[in-house]
Amino acid sequence: MTKKLYIKTYGCQMNVYDSDRMTDVLAPLGYSPIETPDGADMVILNTCHIREKASEKVFSELGRLRMMKEKARDQQGRAVTIAVAGCVAQAEGAEITRRAPWVDIVVGPQTYHRLPELIAEIDPSVRKRAIDTDFPQEVKFDLLPEEHAPRGPAAFLSVQEGCDKFCAFCVVPYTRGAEYSRPAANVLAEARRLVGSGTREITLLGQNVNAYHGDDGHGSVWSLGRLIHALAEIDGLERIRYTTSHPLDMDDELIAAHGNVPQLMPYLHLPIQSGSDRVLDAMNRRHSKDVYFDVIDKLRHVRPDIAMSGDFIVGFPGESDQDFADTLALIDKVGYASAYSFKYSPRPGTPASVSDLQVPEAVKADRLEALQQLLNAQQFAFNKKTEGMRLDILVERVGGRAGQMAGRSPFMQAVNFAGSEDQIGQIIACDIIEGRQNSVTAEITSMKGAA
Ligand code: SAM
Ligand code: SF4
Repeated sequence: MTKKLYIKTYGCQMNVYDSDRMTDVLAPLGYSPIETPDGADMVILNTCHIREKASEKVFSELGRLRMMKEKARDQQGRAVTIAVAGCVAQAEGAEITRRAPWVDIVVGPQTYHRLPELIAEIDPSVRKRAIDTDFPQEVKFDLLPEEHAPRGPAAFLSVQEGCDKFCAFCVVPYTRGAEYSRPAANVLAEARRLVGSGTREITLLGQNVNAYHGDDGHGSVWSLGRLIHALAEIDGLERIRYTTSHPLDMDDELIAAHGNVPQLMPYLHLPIQSGSDRVLDAMNRRHSKDVYFDVIDKLRHVRPDIAMSGDFIVGFPGESDQDFADTLALIDKVGYASAYSFKYSPRPGTPASVSDLQVPEAVKADRLEALQQLLNAQQFAFNKKTEGMRLDILVERVGGRAGQMAGRSPFMQAVNFAGSEDQIGQIIACDIIEGRQNSVTAEITSMKGAA
């Protein structure tokens, strides 16, 4: 009998990938995904712990799910299984069971392949829960099913997980564990399966994706650059991207790939977090801003049109007005096509959270506003600059308005144009008509590579 599964995903693209894989793990048990929690037999919250706001959202959602679970039990005699997965589960498993005893399963990011066993263990009638937040010896990726539902024209593929860098603000090394790279053959096989099911663009994922060092099965280790070269040989894989990268791991092979692998898109998300060497040092980022500028110079040398993206944190403990001014100056110098920015959020267990140099919330808010004004202006200018260009657009889905289709340009811009549903999955040459703040509008010029 079919059971209905609702997964709510918070946070990064790696969680989006993990949620899809959880769906694959549960498919043999008869679970099929639905778009809203109404009528679900099982609800999984796949959570994010990166900032305080992200974790707190989980507890308010759990309050709503409690009511849903009780209503299903009292009015329909139906049991709803509630699971918390992801990084909040990993970091706050005990807190979840204390604050939300109606949760049946708590499972960390490294053990969701065990969901079928965990489901078998629970007994809601006596509140018997199942908790698994191990960092197991077995590798999750080896145990996930090969079969998967089609992921659409643009798909994610996790190639690396965890992090050994220990930036002073970040919970990732604690929630996702030590750095691990999937063997190259494993990644290539998954990429071929994705392409076989209609995917044209793959974004390789990792918390530190360019630290990738995967076993090649013959006693050597492949870097990300080498892996990208091998992926580029897969027939039908038209576009490759990767995220998120650390500046220190941008090696020469990877930089060169931006110049000599046509499928590697001219867009790179390369966070620096701050433009002040003093703050970078306090953050334990292990590089100066000059190293970052140097990487960007090399990238622009091999791929002059590359669109840069990044992440910034304002109000890291001890950040002075001058440090913040240095960040604005760095942004001015680089010129970003898009970027993400956050107020520093103290995370339990991280070194920066116990610093006595915390920056007042009001100062953080002012700095974030100033920074976002500059980044927004740069993004708008970038989108304007593409007006009149002819760009290949991968059509991903139906757009927001009637007769409108939506896709992405090589530079990762969201593109809207008049088209039809049968174009989904095709790469279509379009003329960019208007650059807006968060997207561009376009008109089809000609068709290329129709599926
Ligand atoms: N590995 C990536 C790197 O080295 O830049 C970042 C991964 S992290 C999941 C995504 C982004 O969240 C970071 O780049 C940072 O800007 C932000 N972030 C992480 N911890 C934070 C914190 N405690 N407060 C505010 N933002 C944070
Ligand atoms: Fe977190 Fe990225 Fe630093 Fe690793 S490199 S600790 S994931 S910010």
